[in-house]
Amino acid sequence: MRGQAQQAEGRTQDREIQASELDDLRPGASERLRRTILFSATGTGAVLAAVFWAIGALKDADSVERIIVPILAVMFTALTLLAWRGRLRGAELGLFLVGSGVLLERVYFTTGNGRPGLIPVLDAYELLIWFPCLYLFAFLVFERRRALFYSLGLLAASLFIVRNWLLPGRDAIHHSDLLEFYIGQLGCLVLVYIFATVKTSFLDAHRLAVNLRTFAETDFLTGVPNRRAITQALEEEILHCEHAGSQLSVVLLDLDHFKQVNDSHGHDEGDRALRRVALLMDRSRRQTDVFGRWGGEEFLLIVPNLDLPGARNAAERLRHLIANSGRETRCAVTASFGVTTYQPGDDLGSLVRRADRALFEAKEGGRNRVVASAA
Ligand code: GH3
Ligand code: MG
Ligand code: MG
Repeated sequence: MRGQAQQAEGRTQDREIQASELDDLRPGASERLRRTILFSATGTGAVLAAVFWAIGALKDADSVERIIVPILAVMFTALTLLAWRGRLRGAELGLFLVGSGVLLERVYFTTGNGRPGLIPVLDAYELLIWFPCLYLFAFLVFERRRALFYSLGLLAASLFIVRNWLLPGRDAIHHSDLLEFYIGQLGCLVLVYIFATVKTSFLDAHRLAVNLRTFAETDFLTGVPNRRAITQALEEEILHCEHAGSQLSVVLLDLDHFKQVNDSHGHDEGDRALRRVALLMDRSRRQTDVFGRWGGEEFLLIVPNLDLPGARNAAERLRHLIANSGRETRCAVTASFGVTTYQPGDDLGSLVRRADRALFEAKEGGRNRVVASAA
C-alpha cells in the first residue's frame, strides 16, 4: 500500500489529542448504572416507609415510629429525586447518612438508652447485618479512604451511644457481648477495606487494559480506527460473508495530490485536512459500516450488505462530500475511490488488492473519481 512510510510519521504527531481523549474513557455507563441502583434503592425505601407509615397510623405505633417513619418517607423521597436528576454523589452520601441515622437510632433504643426501664438487649443480629451492609455500601460508592472514614465514624457514633454498657463491671454479660461485637466490627471493616483495595487495583488494571486496547486500535492523528482495527473488522466480515452468504463491499480512498498540500500549506495544515476528511467520512457512514485509516492519506470503508452498484453510489456521495468540504479552509482536497465487492473465494488480500487496483485506475483516469470493479 502507498503511504506506509508516512504512516509512522503521522502517528507520532498529535499524541496529545489521543491522550486527552483517553481521559474521557471513564464509562458513562457506570454512572447510569449507579444512578439506576440508587434510584431503585431510595425509591423502594420511600415506598416502604410510606407503607409503614400508613400501617402505623392504623395500628398503635409507638411514639418513636410515629416520628421516625414519616421523616424517613420524606428523606427517601428527596433522595429518590436527587438520584433521578440531582448530584449522584450527594444522593449516595445522603443514603449512607440516612442508613446510619436509622441504625444509630436502633442502637440507641435496643440498648435501652432511650427508654429508661427497658431491659437493655442488644439485638445483635439486627446490628450485625446492618453495620456491614453500610460499610459495603460506603466502600462501593466512595473512595476507599473516605469510605473507611465514614464507616469508622458510624462505628464511633454507635460506640458513643453504648458507652455506658462498656464500662467494666457495669454489666458483665453485656460488657463482653458489646466488646465482642465491636472487635468483630473492626475485623469486618478490615476485610471490607482489603476487598476495596483489591477492587481498586482490579479497576485500575481494567482501565489500563481498555486504554491500551484503544491506543492499539485507534489512529493517533485522526482518532478513527487504525489499520490493525479495520483489518480485524474486515477479516470478521469476510468470515461472516462466507458463512451467511451475505454481501460485502469495500471502498478504498486516497487523497489526491496530498504531497502538494503539504508542500504548499505545510504539514500541520495537511494534518488538519486529514482529520477533517476522517471526521466527515466517519459521520457519513452507516452504523454498520466500518471506517478507518488504512495508512498515510488512504482510508478504507467496509460496507456490509451492499452490492457493487450500492457501494459505488455510496462512494460517489462521499466523493462529493469531500470535494465540497473544506472550501472555507486554506486547503480543500479531493479523493479518488476504488470500490469492489466480495466474491466467493476472496480473502482479505485479494479483496483489498482489487480495491487498490480500482483506486489506481481512478488515479490514472484523472483523480477525484470513483472506479468500481467486481473482478
Ligand atoms: P496521489 O494523488 O497520486 O495520491 O498523490 P499524493 O501526493 O497524494 O501521493 P503521494 O503518495 O506521492 O504522497 C502522499 C503524501 O501524503 C505524502 C505524505 O507526506 C503525505 N502524508 C502521509 N501521511 C501524512 C500525515 O499523517 N500527515 C500529513 N500532513 N501528510 C501525510
Ligand atoms: Mg497514498
Ligand atoms: Mg494520495
